[in-house]
Amino acid sequence: MRRMKTDIHPKYYQAKVTCSCGNEFVVGATVESMRVEICSVCHPFYTGNMKLVDTAGRVEKFQERLSKVQASPKKKAAAKVAAATTESNKDRLKAMKQSLTEEK
Ligand SMILES: [Zn+2]
Repeated sequence: MRRMKTDIHPKYYQAKVTCSCGNEFVVGATVESMRVEICSVCHPFYTGNMKLVDTAGRVEKFQERLSKVQASPKKKAAAKVAAATTESNKDRLKAMKQSLTEEK
């Protein structure tokens, strides 16, 4: 049996993987150890439990935005209805264009 070529292969470790949930397991790798945020013990796909995997706080940001919108929905809706009933089509188009540019 031929030996592997020398000096070109990285060292192969039985690396200890530590998950943020506390689970630990061993895999073959070229580093001695690694940390992961999610593993097969705590990932929702395997656990079957609904869980938000959200490290950047994006879900919180969205819920914040949503609650703001829900806090004042009638004002905007009422204004829109009022505008739609009183203005001509041309004016409405103008208003729509304006609101589109404002959102950017
Ligand atoms: Zn885990």
